[in-house]
Amino acid sequence: MVEKMDKVDVVTVGVGWTGGIIAAELSKAGYKVVGLERGGERETEDYYDKHDHLNYAERHEVMHHLPDNTVTFRNNLDQTAAPVRETHDLQIGTDVGGGGLHWAAQTHRYFPYDFEIYSRTVERYGEEKIPEDMSLQDWGITYDELEPYYDKFEKTMGTSGEEDPLAAERSSPYPTPPLKKTKAMKLFQEATENLGYHPYVIPAGTISEQYENPDGQTLNACQYSGFCSRFACEWGARASPNITVIPTAQETDNFELRTRSNVTRVLYDGDRATSVIYEDTQTGEEFEQPADIVVLTSYTFNNVRLLLLSEIGEPYDPETGEGIIGKNFTDHHTSGQAIGFFEDRKFNRYISTGALGMTYEDFNADNFDHSDVDFIHGGHIEMRENGENPIQNNHVPNGTPLWGKEFKEKSLYYFYRSFALNIQMATMPFEDHYLDLDPNYKDEKGDPLLRLTWDYKDNELNMSKFLVEKSAETLREMGADIVDEDHLPEHFTPQFTFMHNAGGAIMGDDPETSAVNNYMQMWNMDNLFVCGASALPHFSATNPTLTVGALTYRAAEGIEEYLNNGGGQLVSSKKSNQKA
Ligand SMILES: Cc1cc2nc3c(=O)[nH]c(=O)nc-3n(C[C@H](O)[C@H](O)[C@H](O)COP(=O)(O)OP(=O)(O)OC[C@H]3O[C@@H](n4cnc5c(N)ncnc54)[C@H](O)[C@@H]3O)c2cc1C
Ligand code: SF4
Repeated sequence: MVEKMDKVDVVTVGVGWTGGIIAAELSKAGYKVVGLERGGERETEDYYDKHDHLNYAERHEVMHHLPDNTVTFRNNLDQTAAPVRETHDLQIGTDVGGGGLHWAAQTHRYFPYDFEIYSRTVERYGEEKIPEDMSLQDWGITYDELEPYYDKFEKTMGTSGEEDPLAAERSSPYPTPPLKKTKAMKLFQEATENLGYHPYVIPAGTISEQYENPDGQTLNACQYSGFCSRFACEWGARASPNITVIPTAQETDNFELRTRSNVTRVLYDGDRATSVIYEDTQTGEEFEQPADIVVLTSYTFNNVRLLLLSEIGEPYDPETGEGIIGKNFTDHHTSGQAIGFFEDRKFNRYISTGALGMTYEDFNADNFDHSDVDFIHGGHIEMRENGENPIQNNHVPNGTPLWGKEFKEKSLYYFYRSFALNIQMATMPFEDHYLDLDPNYKDEKGDPLLRLTWDYKDNELNMSKFLVEKSAETLREMGADIVDEDHLPEHFTPQFTFMHNAGGAIMGDDPETSAVNNYMQMWNMDNLFVCGASALPHFSATNPTLTVGALTYRAAEGIEEYLNNGGGQLVSSKKSNQKA
């Protein structure tokens, strides 16, 4: 027996950054919002003095429990997918705040090139630059159109940062000054400037000084405690939904948060969503929550899975190229790196925050001429001070045995004398990379798990090789005595460690090739909005959440317009710029 609840204006499925932004904006505008969150609620106080590396960073205390529900993975269409069961390989949020509770909070804007990647590539290099099976497309929005929403989200978070000399124009400076520079960051700056690049301090949702955001929420100054990414912040210094948008929504009295509420279906009547079905995860009771607007804010994987399970939209078929739900799945990569070992320099690597560091964008996007390289897009190279926690960080030069006396001695010796330059690189969409429902594996309710089909293509392998060599050059300029290069393996092994997964319900101008318009509104069901990285048609080089949040602020504006004007499509469709 399913209990039917009173109808509300808006229901969100999940309450992380995207659900929190929708809840805050719509409840401030006077609409009744219910947020259904499968996980529980915790307070900042729960994390006081919990610098427990084993519990948080290795056993993933604040992340999703994979035996309950997971995804399956395979490299290509010919393989049978297997479930991902190692928590380390799928670190996704599960309580109120979602991944925003334990993220590193690195907050880059994407480049104007990203939003018009197809048109700009063709214009500069010709259509033949794009590999035959790469399903590249423009996003149906430009940087200039998204800029006000970037600005808004940065102000909600109190983002700290300094201007990237290669970035597009901003309408206002960062709300708070950049984080402090460590000795290693200064060395990186000097070396990259010598090489003619343009370094700058990474923008961060870890706040450099106390700040009150436009909604009246206060964030504190970061203490550089070093136990940051994968931990919850005990200081209220790392922007999270829990200390910004969720309390803002709650203060209006128009928002009701229901925890332990796992949504299993979206119900609809013709082309209108009518309600969602959810289960109380503690009692097993089922409820139906009717709403004028349904917003999926349950992260890429569950957004797409719910669409597929609810039979909304046509599932993508990689054999025929027909259908749209599941298309353009991309996994973002921070692997492939160069590591430097210094004999006569020591660095205090434990003084850090999740997003502390310096980077340069000279090889990102289309900031350099791609005529002579065999890939599209690029990446950035970063020196990160994000916490050399004691268990997992034993950098030793290649050739050192990975156990025994010599390993112990060198781990201790190089702990203070080494660091990697991380590479974050863009991943392009391909016709055979997609999401669908697994034909073999089901969850405990009997619903199919989501299946991920993905592998490296030449674009990633060539780009990684190019960027690893640039990193090694940077380390040598920094004075490293030993530089080891760590290249991508030929095939991807399923390690989805940073919730950087995109696609499956992509945005665009054209309902033939996109699921949602640039307000995240479904083309075929105009009171259903799908917010999150599921909308990104490709993965840019840097972290996604600032762009995802900016798009969600735009969606909130669209929903308000929709409710005020009695419905309808917010955007007229047109033929999109994409590969024929
Ligand atoms: C270790 C780590 C570090 C990261 N660092 C960065 C970084 O530096 N910069 C950056 O940009 N990004 C970073 N990320 C990624 C960032 O956390 C995500 O992009 C962001 O949290 C996504 O927000 P979201 O609202 O789309 O999804 P989520 O944060 O996942 O929120 C979705 C919510 O929906 C709930 N939910 C899911 N399914 C259901 C259902 N069926 N019913 C009800 N509720 C449901 C979930 O429990 C969750 O609370 C990091 C992630 C990790 C794991
Ligand atoms: S390093 Fe700063 S932002 Fe991160 S957990 Fe510590 S105080 Fe919070």
